[in-house]
Amino acid sequence: MADEAVQVAVRIRPFLPREKGQRQIVTVQSANVLKLKVLTTQLAGPPQEEDKVFSFDHCLSSVKPNDSRRDEPHAPPITQEQVYEAIGQNLLSNALEGYNSCLFAYGQTGSGKTYTVLGHERDPGLIPRLCQNLFTQEYEELRVSASFLEIYNEQLKDLLNPQMKGRKPLYVHQHPQLGVYVPHLTEAPVGSHDECMALLDFGSKIRATSQTNMNSTSSRSHALFILRITFPIKDESRTRIRNSTLNLIDLAGSERVKKSGAAGQRMREGQNINSSLSVLGQVISKLAQGKFKHVPFRQSKLTYLLTDALSGNSKTHMVAAISPALSEMEETLGTLRFASSVK
Ligand code: ADP
Ligand code: MG
Repeated sequence: MADEAVQVAVRIRPFLPREKGQRQIVTVQSANVLKLKVLTTQLAGPPQEEDKVFSFDHCLSSVKPNDSRRDEPHAPPITQEQVYEAIGQNLLSNALEGYNSCLFAYGQTGSGKTYTVLGHERDPGLIPRLCQNLFTQEYEELRVSASFLEIYNEQLKDLLNPQMKGRKPLYVHQHPQLGVYVPHLTEAPVGSHDECMALLDFGSKIRATSQTNMNSTSSRSHALFILRITFPIKDESRTRIRNSTLNLIDLAGSERVKKSGAAGQRMREGQNINSSLSVLGQVISKLAQGKFKHVPFRQSKLTYLLTDALSGNSKTHMVAAISPALSEMEETLGTLRFASSVK
């Protein structure tokens, strides 16, 4: 299973204070199976309940016992460390074996994407843990560099060089030999876990600043943290260089923009997000089925930029983040459908 090209995990976050006491509609049945209760209201009579069962490579629940109303017994909540063991370890070992990898965190705003990918200082998420483990590897001459960029409204922004110093906007370029890349994107050398964290902090603050200026763009933009890893492998006779790229992506919120109330800029943002997420779904599922022709990479900046990372010698991981609460049922169903569709 760990060898498959696409791995999908679902993580259920704990109830938030505003959801306390609500009914829990998603429950983990086993390591690979979860159940969603779908409630539909009738014009007359009580609401109808239907159980929908989904299977994934990992079903990880961080719901705390006693936070909700539920009838079934409760497993202990999954910790950040266990999420790393389920997903991060695999990503790192793939990278060290020379595979290019992508990790996508998908889900509605507030579902726990950033918590899973970045976490907090007290309780770090996948990227900090991965960096920590990367730099404890005993490879001589391990070289690592990092880029950090944001795609907002189909425009690219270098989060490590936000001023752009009078340069033209960033763009995605396809070179016949070099492949697909972003010319002039900052690629900062990283020599330690602390240096990696400093770059993450710097870029995340830039993201947060533009958020207050531009009306919470962080939930409406994709953030890509890209690690390039290079080290020599010495056989008896010769030395080969192993290269791999790890793309760690906190996607824009997947929620549907309500038709009412969203106009102009908001409406366009929403359409761009929905369209880039749906292109991403199509691209991953085509590749997962071994269909390499007519893959619509170029239909969004995100997939265009990740063309090389998604095709060829590569592994893809997705974490679908969801809330356990009844109030989020529609979006949760949408997320689980999306996560099922990419396998
Ligand atoms: P998103 O990035 O999807 O918008 P966040 O990661 O910001 O969502 O999570 C929303 C809120 O839920 C935050 O307050 C976050 O701290 C909290 N949260 C999310 N996942 C967890 C978790 N596994 N354990 C504890 N708190 C969590
Ligand atoms: Mg977030």
